[in-house]
Amino acid sequence: MDTLGASPFRLGEETLSHNDVTTRPASANAGRPFAPATIERLYAAHRERLIAAGFPAATLLVFGVTLLYQLADLIASPVAFRDEFAINLLQLLIPLVALALARGPLRHRVHLVALGMDFAYTAALAGRLLLPTTTVSGTALFLSLKMLATALLFPWGVRTQYVSAGLTLTLYWSLLVHEQTALPGWPPVHQLLGPLISALLSVAGAAGADRARRTLFLQNLRLARSQRRRATSEARYRDLFEHANDLIFVIDDAEQFRFANQAALDFVGVDAHTMAALPLDRVLPPESLRRVRRRLVVARARGDGRGRPFEVDVTRPDGSTATLELRARRVSEAGQAHAYQCIARDVSERHRQEAATQRLLRSLQESSRLQTEFVANTSHELRTPLSVIVGYADLLTEDPRFAVGTEVRGFLERIGASARALHRLVEGVLEFARLDRGQVQVMPSSFPVNSLLLELRSLCNDIRSSPDLEIHIPNAPGIELHTDYDRLYSVLSNLLLNAVKFTPRGLVGLTTQRVGDEIEFRVHDTGIGIPDEELEHIFEPFRQVDGSTTRAFTGVGLGLSIVQRNVHLLGGEVVVDSRVAVGSTFTVRIPRRSENVRSTGVARAAPRATRQGASVPGRVTVSRSP
Ligand code: ADP
Repeated sequence: MDTLGASPFRLGEETLSHNDVTTRPASANAGRPFAPATIERLYAAHRERLIAAGFPAATLLVFGVTLLYQLADLIASPVAFRDEFAINLLQLLIPLVALALARGPLRHRVHLVALGMDFAYTAALAGRLLLPTTTVSGTALFLSLKMLATALLFPWGVRTQYVSAGLTLTLYWSLLVHEQTALPGWPPVHQLLGPLISALLSVAGAAGADRARRTLFLQNLRLARSQRRRATSEARYRDLFEHANDLIFVIDDAEQFRFANQAALDFVGVDAHTMAALPLDRVLPPESLRRVRRRLVVARARGDGRGRPFEVDVTRPDGSTATLELRARRVSEAGQAHAYQCIARDVSERHRQEAATQRLLRSLQESSRLQTEFVANTSHELRTPLSVIVGYADLLTEDPRFAVGTEVRGFLERIGASARALHRLVEGVLEFARLDRGQVQVMPSSFPVNSLLLELRSLCNDIRSSPDLEIHIPNAPGIELHTDYDRLYSVLSNLLLNAVKFTPRGLVGLTTQRVGDEIEFRVHDTGIGIPDEELEHIFEPFRQVDGSTTRAFTGVGLGLSIVQRNVHLLGGEVVVDSRVAVGSTFTVRIPRRSENVRSTGVARAAPRATRQGASVPGRVTVSRSP
């Protein structure tokens, strides 16, 4: 716990290896070269700062050395000192005046002040040659030392050093020439060349020092820049970490919290120090603790990979509970893995909502079941009176004892037709309710398909309302079926009822053919057709195409869902193919023998409706059940 100091839970005070957080290494930024002009500008400013920083010490050094020399001169020769007093004073004043200027009015031009001081001091030194007490060799020595000292004291670069040395030599040689006019012959070589060599050495020294300073400066510049970038990037990630909505924390091998972001602290409801001292089993009930330990073992085995999320119940110190979705991964520090980085999310609210949705769903299902039961019960009650109405209407029409007139016969026929339609509707509702509850059993029997076709033909004659509609149901001799007659009748009658209903004039047909072990029925019409976008939905209960269309045609939208459920029970499939204003074809395929079909079944499975290829527009398959 030594890492948990005054501010223990702050990212950055320890270095974690965040493999999933990509930061550019500092060296990558530092390696990028600066523009040459920028370097020159920055370095020139840097040099100015260096000169300004070192100038007071340099001037005081010059002053001190000069004073010491003059004191030594005074002790050695008081008479000579008196003669040189004026120039001595001048030499002492030059550095003091320069210092005053550099700290005052010319503080932004220290470079120039330094050069000016150098020139003035050189002039004073050279001027000593005019005094009888000064020797040429001594002056040459002084000037040489001065040139070497400026290269050392002032970091002003090689060009200024050239200027300084050039001026010094010019002054010296001018005065030398002046002095020589009094004496015949050439001055000795050391007087002539000594200062020249010193000047060259001072320039070379200044150049070398400047190069070294420049290299150092560039390195510092890069370092500073990369540190700035690193700090920015660290601040960015720290910000992300601190303000993430997810709970982020690190647990070490001793099951102690090493880091926690604000969200985690808020979640647990403690401060950073308390969290650092909080053992894992204070927040995790035993079962959750076991699960976490198992996952940590897995995370350790997987290394740095991303762990799968898992859920744990958490008990906070204040006693409240919550559920976390947690993901743990092993992380290393200084090359050694000894901690787990965990990212967690509070899913308690989501769980509460899911439970509420489940409850709502159950209550909706229950209410839907009650409604279906109510409709079924009502329909059941309607069936008997409707049968009575149909029966009496038929009796009155057909029994000669009642000898009804043509007009009354017409009324009775309409009563009979309407009651039959209502009866069919009631039967449909009851059948749907039974199918929906899975109460229908398949009862196979053997029969010739022609008997079924005969009954369907008679149904069509009953329901045909327009003389402009031709109905064509040809026989299919020699085909025997062994299946549930009533289920199949229900399927084909519903398809024919729809075909007749949605075809005001034109043709409705039913064709039958054997296809291997199956039999295929095609109910086709030249009616209004079904729009493409509706095809996938028409098998859903109570689904009808566009309200305006369905108002023109009666029905409650149950026919096709009854078809689909019955076909499912018979182990077959139904395919629809339709075009608006051209017509529709419903193709039903079922096995011919009941061995291939289930004998009982629950017709709840939802149809799998898939559009089959763009080349066959409007084709929807309700697939064969598995
Ligand atoms: P409905 O009681 O409305 O006929 P169905 O479930 O039998 O209910 O049919 C659902 C919808 O499918 C119908 O309302 C109709 O819009 C459309 N439909 C079914 N068969 C045909 C058909 N042969 N021609 C045109 N539209 C049809």
